[in-house]
Amino acid sequence: MGCISVRNGLVLLADGRIDQCDVLIDSGLITEIGGELRAECEIDATNCYVLPGLVDLHVHGMGRESTSLSSLADIAQLEASRGATTFYPTLFAPPDEIATQLRRHRRETDDLRAVPQVAGFRLESPYLANASGGLPKDCAPISEETTEMLLDAGGGLIKIWDISPELPGALSTTSRLTSLGVVVSLAHTAATIDQARAAVECGARLVTHLFDTFRQPMETEPGAYPAGLVDYLLVEDRVVCEIIGDGTHVHPLLVEKAFRCKTPNRLAFVTDSNVGAGLPPGRYELPMGWGTAQINGPNDGVRLVDRGMELCGSALTPIDAFRNVVNMFEKDLATASTVCSRTPAKLMGLNKGELAPGRDGDVIIVTRNLNLVCTIVSGRIVWQI
Ligand SMILES: [Zn+2]
Repeated sequence: MGCISVRNGLVLLADGRIDQCDVLIDSGLITEIGGELRAECEIDATNCYVLPGLVDLHVHGMGRESTSLSSLADIAQLEASRGATTFYPTLFAPPDEIATQLRRHRRETDDLRAVPQVAGFRLESPYLANASGGLPKDCAPISEETTEMLLDAGGGLIKIWDISPELPGALSTTSRLTSLGVVVSLAHTAATIDQARAAVECGARLVTHLFDTFRQPMETEPGAYPAGLVDYLLVEDRVVCEIIGDGTHVHPLLVEKAFRCKTPNRLAFVTDSNVGAGLPPGRYELPMGWGTAQINGPNDGVRLVDRGMELCGSALTPIDAFRNVVNMFEKDLATASTVCSRTPAKLMGLNKGELAPGRDGDVIIVTRNLNLVCTIVSGRIVWQI
């Protein structure tokens, strides 16, 4: 692996400052940030921002490719063209089908070694109290056999596992998965505050698309303002909360509330992208019997035509989500980078998410209008305009 220098760009440094300088990447790692860093391969980033690659924790598909049917190499290429240097293919199917998909992906990618953008798998089903945009057949009761069967199929590569904390067996499974280094995410839940807190005590550290699939609290006493699960999660510092930042899944006012309660260090913007993300407006067929989807652009979600236009993931691509943090939610570049790169990377224990010597050489170059110019993964250019 050679040496590559990104020259003369506006580099977002780890402390949040932006400095015009060079970034040198050698053997896959950032080795130096400064002036006059020459290499055999140089990229001119004059007038462009140089940022950490985007890390997307929640991805079902993009374009016409889905995690259930397509090859991860094809999805990775699309992700690179939209700024993601790391993503977690997310599976949503009945347990046996998930196991089949895990084995297929592992076989096709030499246990992910062939696709460095994929840092591990995520299981959104089967341990959900309600399927929401998915199908009821994708949910299953929690059992030790099912858990061990899926762990075996994942071969140590399942890194995020969604669980509704109110299901019988949720707490012991959360403890077991946490002990294996799997990040458990509170998901699709109508749990009480006490049930959710118990799961956090057992190690749950992520919240799956906060606000979406969560219920409004019921009034318990006339005149008394009720506190709900979302309120608890907003002030529970032990959990990182995901936000689908398209302005449709979560109203901008609630996004602002989440920024103020969680701070950027506890917020991870995800796409939850599905088939149709990044495609022109139109109707597209979803895999696995999920039906026809209507796409109206990146900020209107993937809508299920046959099910009352219900949302089924987003039509965001990673760079759309990043741009929205700046343009729609009015945050600065450093904050956008924190919620799209640093916080998810830190949660997952990755050596990524900021530009500093010693970190992985995962870099994106964008214009001042935040249009993607180049994507570099482990010091290799994987996409260029
Ligand atoms: Zn999802």
